[in-house]
Amino acid sequence: MDTKVDEMSRIPEEEEPKPGPIDHARIERAVREILIAVGEDPDREGLRDTPKRVARMYAEVFAGMYDDPERYVQTFFSEQYDELIVLRDIPFYSFCEHHLLPFEGKAHVAYLPNGRVVGLSKLARVVDAFARRPQVQERLTMQIADLLTKSLQAKGVAVVMEAKHACMTCRGVKKPNSVMITSAVRGICRSDARTRAEVMSLLHNQH
Ligand code: ZN
Repeated sequence: MDTKVDEMSRIPEEEEPKPGPIDHARIERAVREILIAVGEDPDREGLRDTPKRVARMYAEVFAGMYDDPERYVQTFFSEQYDELIVLRDIPFYSFCEHHLLPFEGKAHVAYLPNGRVVGLSKLARVVDAFARRPQVQERLTMQIADLLTKSLQAKGVAVVMEAKHACMTCRGVKKPNSVMITSAVRGICRSDARTRAEVMSLLHNQH
């Protein structure tokens, strides 16, 4: 396990995605237009800096557009551990691409390694990098599972995500407590009934 400790302690706080080429000026113009379109006066005091603030917010919440999630799992360490590795309750924030409203919740990630193991923080980084884009929860869940399957050559991967969507709570059907649950299961976690049952009970278990 020495390798694990070394690898983890050597990670600096390097990994915040750098601000990408998000066009702040263009967002500011668009937000000003929206304010006018809904009948507001974009020059009144409370709204004067809103386009700027919204542009900065989008640059932050969509930073995943210019981040490559694969970079977080390129550094793995070799470990002959062939039991499930599970990370539950990874908080995530994303934006639904249909309404540009946030959805947020928890991701649960499990994989059955094939000699390649990554630090747990890396799994959270992968979730973040995919979440910080205009998304739908179904695709987000699959992208995480597919990346881990490919990059770690894991024998099996399972990802379960549960989230509340603002577009369900503040508009449309207004169902504030509904939680959407999606899952993506790959490899032996999908094909082997016993492994699948084990991983699903670990990921769905309420603590
Ligand atoms: Zn939506």
